[in-house]
Amino acid sequence: MPLYEYQCLQCTSGFTELRRCAEMDSQIDCPECGSLETNRTISSFAVGGASAGVASGSASSSSQFK
Ligand SMILES: [Zn+2]
Repeated sequence: MPLYEYQCLQCTSGFTELRRCAEMDSQIDCPECGSLETNRTISSFAVGGASAGVASGSASSSSQFK
């Protein structure tokens, strides 16, 4: 299930939700203030810094694959 990022227009807090594709543009209420005035923003799941650590770790242990 894809992760979508939303931002509240009332309190400007950002939050992420796991939702089905069919629901990604439906309204969702802000977990901070309960407002329904939220915008879906660009999903950031492809940007995470965690992937860099995984990449360097697999590089150092690449000899195990031979
Ligand atoms: Zn809010």
